[in-house]
Amino acid sequence: MTPPVLRLDGVRKRFGDTEVLGGVDLTVAEHDVVALIGASGSGKSTLLRCVNLLERIDDGQIWLRDTDISDPRVHADRVRARIGTVFQQFNLFPHIRVIDNVTLASRRVLRIPRATAEATALELLDRVGLAGKAREYPDRLSGGQQQRVAIVRAIATNPELLLLDEITSALDPELVVEVLDLVRDLKNEGTTIVMATHEMAFARDVADRVVFLDGGVIVEEGPAAQLLREPREDRTRAFLARFL
Ligand code: ADP
Ligand code: MG
Repeated sequence: MTPPVLRLDGVRKRFGDTEVLGGVDLTVAEHDVVALIGASGSGKSTLLRCVNLLERIDDGQIWLRDTDISDPRVHADRVRARIGTVFQQFNLFPHIRVIDNVTLASRRVLRIPRATAEATALELLDRVGLAGKAREYPDRLSGGQQQRVAIVRAIATNPELLLLDEITSALDPELVVEVLDLVRDLKNEGTTIVMATHEMAFARDVADRVVFLDGGVIVEEGPAAQLLREPREDRTRAFLARFL
């Protein structure tokens, strides 16, 4: 049996005396799209940051396929080349052009020759309608265009897993849709995605599964339609009531 793309096993994370993740178990199968929902401070970003090794966990294990990436000996850059990540904001390196943003990890970490990496990058940029912006600096692009470039950069290394952390939160409302459309396309292509989101309608449309975090623990998880429409737990219901 092939292992799931991602498996968290009893993951705990503390900042000082505060336990921010209190024993999280989560399995993400190939092609699965999982939405993490929960109030601000519930631990969504910390969870994603632990998966891409921006934070070290205090207990438990995180497996990427058959690699125990919580083993302190793993090479963080190599793991990150297997996991594309897009954050809420400040994504792109401002001092280098769009094309260099997109090719950086392929060239530096995967040692792909520049010409090859650029050809792939241009193809991906073209798919999102931004090939014409390849030679621009990020600040010449709209927020929505920058986030689409950030997504392209995240998938340029052909990662096994894509992590998206509230990627539309910093965008003007009219720019949100172009970013969400791109995520929907990636899902349709079979990309495995874990995304923290406040966009409940989007979670319902795109996610296969929804995971509700509260106080650093998973309170409830289930198929998106079921969990969002008929949550079993009071805490989930109280959280979702805010979005009605
Ligand atoms: P969410 O993304 O769901 O809003 P976070 O993962 O950002 O939640 O935060 C969870 C908790 O961890 C919050 O109480 C936050 O203040 C705390 N926290 C996050 N990062 C740090 C840090 N680097 N140092 C100390 N506390 C942190
Ligand atoms: Mg967050």
